Amino acid sequence: MKLILLGAPGAGKGTVAKLLTKIDGSVQISTGDILRGAVNAGTDLGKEAKSFMDAGDLVPDALIMNIMGERLLEDDCKNGFLLDGFPRIIPQAEALDVLLEKIGVELDFVVSLDVPRDVIYDRLTTRRTCENTKCQAIYNVKSMPSKVEGICDKCGSKTIQRADETVEAISKRLDTYDEMTAPLADYYKKKGQIFEVVATSSDTVVEAVKEKLAK
Ligand code: AMP
Repeated sequence: MKLILLGAPGAGKGTVAKLLTKIDGSVQISTGDILRGAVNAGTDLGKEAKSFMDAGDLVPDALIMNIMGERLLEDDCKNGFLLDGFPRIIPQAEALDVLLEKIGVELDFVVSLDVPRDVIYDRLTTRRTCENTKCQAIYNVKSMPSKVEGICDKCGSKTIQRADETVEAISKRLDTYDEMTAPLADYYKKKGQIFEVVATSSDTVVEAVKEKLAK
């Protein structure tokens, strides 16, 4: 499957993407994960991206399009991909259209995850992430805690609250989403590509996507 997952931070794009990868081997491509990996590894990309990310601002398009231009050409994308956190603004969506056309790839559709704001706020402030960049497993202190508090079940590294998941950074990210990313739903609606799902549970979203793909 070749899908874009659209939704506010905390809407569950990452969780849904991980569940969908199990269906047919499509890969999850999360620009946020790629950028966090670069920040932790101290690469030039990471150094450029860090201040934008910590402030809850978007990283410049040129950096993002370089990442995606290379990533979508990798072999593992041939089975399909789930774009999580990209595109974030209309110019990125337009650039993606050009890129997909150039490499001869067609999207199935764009899944828009609709979640009430108070649910999102609660999810993000209680989220914990494995600090190991190769793992980045996600937990939630309320709904999905690790077996040992503060320790990742999968790799034994520490779980941490991300710098951009403080109350201030979350408010900023949600404002940025409303202003810059939410208009993407209209962009894809006009192209007849949007599939809107009420996303209070990730399993419901996965079932709805499976059904839609089967049609
Ligand atoms: P995420 O994990 O998707 O919420 O992304 C975390 C942060 O990475 C965002 O707040 C942005 O600073 C940056 N980021 C991720 N994806 C993009 C993108 N497509 N365009 C610009 N910045 C991005």
